[in-house]
Amino acid sequence: NVSVVLFTSDLRLHDHPPLRAAGEDRQVVPLFVRDQGVAGAGFAAPNRLAFLADCLHDLDAGLRERGGRLVIRSGDVVDEVCKVAAETDADEVHMAADVSAYAQLREGRLRRALESVGRRLCVHDTVTTVVAPGAVTPAASDHFAVFTPYFRHWSGHPQRTPLAAPRRVGVPEGVGSEPLPSRADLSGLSPALCPGGEVAGRRLVTAWLRGGLAAYEDRRDDLAGDATSRLSPHLHFGTVSPVELVHRARRAGGPGAESFVRQLAWRDFHRQVLAARPEAALADYRTKGDLWRTEHAAREDIEAWQEGRTGYPVIDAAMRQLRHEGWMHNRGRLLTGSFLTKTLYVDWRVGARHFLDLLVDGDVANNQLNWQWMAGTGTDSRPNRVLNPVTQAKRYDPDGAYVRRWVPELAPLEGASVHEPWKLRGLDRAAIGDYPDPVVGLAEGLARFRQARALD
Ligand code: FAD
Repeated sequence: NVSVVLFTSDLRLHDHPPLRAAGEDRQVVPLFVRDQGVAGAGFAAPNRLAFLADCLHDLDAGLRERGGRLVIRSGDVVDEVCKVAAETDADEVHMAADVSAYAQLREGRLRRALESVGRRLCVHDTVTTVVAPGAVTPAASDHFAVFTPYFRHWSGHPQRTPLAAPRRVGVPEGVGSEPLPSRADLSGLSPALCPGGEVAGRRLVTAWLRGGLAAYEDRRDDLAGDATSRLSPHLHFGTVSPVELVHRARRAGGPGAESFVRQLAWRDFHRQVLAARPEAALADYRTKGDLWRTEHAAREDIEAWQEGRTGYPVIDAAMRQLRHEGWMHNRGRLLTGSFLTKTLYVDWRVGARHFLDLLVDGDVANNQLNWQWMAGTGTDSRPNRVLNPVTQAKRYDPDGAYVRRWVPELAPLEGASVHEPWKLRGLDRAAIGDYPDPVVGLAEGLARFRQARALD
């Protein structure tokens, strides 16, 4: 009796329902397919491929400790799974449920292909989410469009107990595998990219629960303090189980834990929106009409934004952090998202694409739906709010340390004066070299936004 376990965004051994269901008394083929469909859709960004390579090495090492190994194939995911199932005469394939249009299509194709040759596909939920999409719904819809009632239902929904890692994984003899991909073969990586893999992820969780969680509620918006968990890439690749993370955070308790668990519910929230409305990855969730400036008309503005040369220090700092680390602080994502869509009035898809090219945690549900939230086309109940990059910078980077860290031209400036370099005169102005003037005045940007949205 052989089962195939297809790993996708669940690259771990702890708390892994598909592995558990495949059974310790059966032989298991742990399979990862380097899917040409994912690359074809423009999702194979170097930063994520590097993190993925770490994850696959780590998963293979963990399986070897348990008597098994990871089998790697590349090509069309459905063809490859069917080939491996035929080679090993597996009667069932286990995998995690996922939410994007692509994942839903993949699941349907795989089910039909397997069933046509008498094999079974078993799809497990609560692997990549805490509560399965659709498990809680409002009376008149298939998903929640507002977070607060969702969170109430989410919090009251029974959550399963985390599972231990399997003690042994017996892999049948003679199953061919390609070599593991390596980070060393990739170019164009962010210089300060974090390491991937379940071991690194579990270590980060333990350190976070001990050292960061208690102060999370007070410090999560402190840009310079960098006091969030940085678990997003591990949650994206599934090296950390969201079920286990919520379980452990609740056990730790306190206001920090409550606030942290609420953010993890935001992750599930976006996933249940995308599961019900997969087209929202590309189309406006709530349409605002065809109001965005075209990419062509705004090209210089877009380039200044991408390169961190808008003349707004906090925006530039965040955009440079993104390029350097492949990660950006949440407050930075909010500010740069608002600035692109509501001050420069550029289509949110342009910003979302740039983020996906660089973010190590780049995730269809979280990225696209947070961008829509910022652009006012998504689930924000105040779609016309505009974040002012100067007042926000003074609030969340009061001493200017975040800006000085990422924008060295401004390092000579002291305290909060770093947030308004256009006010400098004489020698102070000369000290900041060629740091640019603002690409657009905030009043002008706001007027454009209000006019385009027909607000008074
Ligand atoms: P923590 O503050 O420690 O939060 C813990 C976890 O909760 C995060 O790892 C994440 O999984 C989840 N979470 C936190 N905030 C949110 C949120 N607003 N929405 C959904 N889940 C959340 N997150 C991604 O994982 N991938 C993305 O591609 C992504 N793109 C974004 C784009 C924009 C424009 C914005 C405004 C936000 C985006 N986020 C994205 C959400 C959020 O910014 C990141 O999850 C967070 O900054 C990651 O850092 P952390 O792990 O230290 O977060």
